[in-house]
Amino acid sequence: MKAYDVIIIGGGVHGAGVLQAAAAAGHSALLIEKHSLASGTSSKSSKLIHGGLRYLESGQLSLVRESLKERAIHLRIAAELVELKPFFIPVYGDTRRRPWALNVGLSIYALLGGFGRAMRFGAVPRREWGNLDGLKTQGLDTIIRYHDAQTDDAMLTRAVVQSALELGAEVLMPADFVGASLEENGVEVTVSAGAVTRKLTARVLVNAAGPWAPQVARAVVPGIFVPNVDLVQGTHIVLPHPLTCGIYYVESPSDGRAVFLMPWRGATMVGTTETPFSGDPDDVRPLPAEEEYLLDVARHYFPALRRFTPADITERFAGLRVLPAASDAAFDRSRETIFSTDREPRPRVLGIYGGKLTGWRAAAAQVLDRIGPSLPAARRRAATDQLILRRPQ
Ligand SMILES: Cc1cc2nc3c(=O)[nH]c(=O)nc-3n(C[C@H](O)[C@H](O)[C@H](O)COP(=O)(O)OP(=O)(O)OC[C@H]3O[C@@H](n4cnc5c(N)ncnc54)[C@H](O)[C@@H]3O)c2cc1C
Repeated sequence: MKAYDVIIIGGGVHGAGVLQAAAAAGHSALLIEKHSLASGTSSKSSKLIHGGLRYLESGQLSLVRESLKERAIHLRIAAELVELKPFFIPVYGDTRRRPWALNVGLSIYALLGGFGRAMRFGAVPRREWGNLDGLKTQGLDTIIRYHDAQTDDAMLTRAVVQSALELGAEVLMPADFVGASLEENGVEVTVSAGAVTRKLTARVLVNAAGPWAPQVARAVVPGIFVPNVDLVQGTHIVLPHPLTCGIYYVESPSDGRAVFLMPWRGATMVGTTETPFSGDPDDVRPLPAEEEYLLDVARHYFPALRRFTPADITERFAGLRVLPAASDAAFDRSRETIFSTDREPRPRVLGIYGGKLTGWRAAAAQVLDRIGPSLPAARRRAATDQLILRRPQ
């Protein structure tokens, strides 16, 4: 039976990050993915490497600070994959977030980000309003510009796995995690790849299965604690119209939620929604009502997009957020990553629930800290905040 220090379930950005962090720390590590890398949530995000300006509204200051730190690290180690972009917030007479509130928020954002060029913000001069991709100017009071970063989420995930492979890590794919049994000093893991079922052992099993994480946790015997989480669907649509100046951060005219319009492969990507989801995560699909909602936002702010109907959508995709179970609106719930272990201080299973694309490296570092006492001594090969991520072939 082949033995590893760490076996990771899930080839999304979190699984990729833990694979890289484990290999960089000198451990033997294997990642198991049932479809292909980033086939889950990590190819369905808004593709922003950002501090999350709107999380200031729900007081998540430490999350914003850490995310801005990670954004700065990405701009240094993943310059081929992550690009700083101008973001425009148009404020009309009826916009709920008023200029003073946005300026206060952006000042806090700049403070948490340590100031510097990438944290600059200010009003766009009125003479430039007409050059912003045909943004509606009727009723416009001001436009505020700041900066955040955009990536290709699936490509970033593959780049992290490539970096892990260069450090000696392994990937088994496509292969399905079937179950695991806890032993005194580790875990026996059952995996099926095609017609073949294999047994492997690990000191620690890391459950990075995103929205499937509760399913994976329930397949561990004897049973372990499974955090109470909700799945909330988010849809994006792509419209065949180029957007060139930057990313627009607007309010939905129907409910005031923040929605992004972003340049994406020569077209316009609009997202996202927050729709409660129950059922099998494999079945998540964009809903017609979500597409109409996003089209309404696009048509409201860009007269050139008024001609588009659902039949014009060139691409649509939906992903699932994993949020702490609660009765309040998804918009206001914590985006902090939840780590859950079977025991302390020497866990055999660690589950990652929720989190952000932006925070994958910091989350992976925390995972390695938590599982460190269960792992054999090893010689560190690299530090993940120094490893350059390249565009995968
Ligand atoms: C709509 C939306 C927009 C978002 N936008 C942003 C954003 O702009 N910026 C940001 O920072 N964050 C964003 N996020 C959050 C971010 O996308 C997620 O935090 C991140 O992608 C989660 O990655 P993950 O690795 O945990 O899960 P996933 O990417 O879902 O990976 C889990 C993997 O596990 C695999 N798996 C499941 N079961 C098994 C099994 N039994 N055996 C083997 N493999 C299995 C799946 O195939 C899948 O590939 C967004 C999320 C959503 C839903």
